[in-house]
Amino acid sequence: MISDYPHLIDLADHPVSWWNGLLELGQEIMKNPALYANSCRGKIMGTLFYEPSTRTQMSFQTAMLRLGGTIIGFDNPQTSSVAKGENLKDTTKIVSGYSDVLVIRHPTAGAAKAAALTADCPVINAGDGGHLHPTQTLTDLLTLKCEKGRLSGLTLGLCGDLLNGRTVHSLCKAMACYPDNHFILISAKELAMPSYIKDYIRAHGGTFEEMTSLEDAIPKLDMLYMTRVQRERFDDPAVYDALKDTYVLDTKKMKLAKPDMIVMHPLPRVDEIEIAVDDDPRALYFKQAKYGMYVRMALILTMLQSKKKTELLSGAVHPGIKCANEKCITRKEEYLPKSFIGKGTTLTCEYCDERLLLKH
Ligand code: ASP
Repeated sequence: MISDYPHLIDLADHPVSWWNGLLELGQEIMKNPALYANSCRGKIMGTLFYEPSTRTQMSFQTAMLRLGGTIIGFDNPQTSSVAKGENLKDTTKIVSGYSDVLVIRHPTAGAAKAAALTADCPVINAGDGGHLHPTQTLTDLLTLKCEKGRLSGLTLGLCGDLLNGRTVHSLCKAMACYPDNHFILISAKELAMPSYIKDYIRAHGGTFEEMTSLEDAIPKLDMLYMTRVQRERFDDPAVYDALKDTYVLDTKKMKLAKPDMIVMHPLPRVDEIEIAVDDDPRALYFKQAKYGMYVRMALILTMLQSKKKTELLSGAVHPGIKCANEKCITRKEEYLPKSFIGKGTTLTCEYCDERLLLKH
């Protein structure tokens, strides 16, 4: 299914040259914001936030306001007709008809793609469950580009909840597309990186190793990306409690790191970075959030100017097959075409990337 609009659901849907263009434009805006102050005059951005957010929501909103545009939307679905039982399709159809660009965050994997299927304007994925978070990755790429001066030849440590953390999924997929990056995946066994992301890294020529000790990994790193254990993705609170404090970055561990290693975190931080680390000049997470505003300005501008169409579904519809991921949007919004890529006995859900093994 080809949509008439230039959506951003997954960075992988666009060439690396397109991401690089956004980073360049972000740097350009950062240098000279006054030049862009009226670039979106008369345009309206709709924000549908079905899940809590501080940085993503407010940086998108400020980005649009700083470009001279205006915003509509909700930050709590309970104050909209979603509380009356309205489905994603109808809400999207209506709000995209009022807006020039739509930004959506949803607790369910694949929801942004599902929204794009019906939308009458470009859709930007601002986080779909534990799946992907492409605009956080644009933020991270801009931070790395400005602070490390390059996006290749880096040893990147990702630590914490690699299973449920959508930010690290998108980041690994993106950084694997730049040459010579090595990933050190640091997590408890229960929260290890999903295999489809590891396969993606391999397929794009990146290398990775998995470790459980942050102390052992930290001396090797050019960048350490700390993440929060994603409490809202756990069905059993006891499992969350048992895992939540596995990794804490403190000043003692920072002493083991290279003098030019940088620490990034998509935020919010809970307890995984000791507050005292904030005073270390290598702690860049607050600055990182600011880069996010500039790259989102670049993204909004690009989306509003582009006439590009997007291929949303390219596989085959199998009405009789259910996605195995209970947290996939196709399990909640049953009208969606159950579209899978692949042949033979392995199919991949086109909304959430879950792999299904069919028995014959
Ligand atoms: N803010 C990020 C996200 O929305 C990270 C987090 O919530 O832990 O995924």
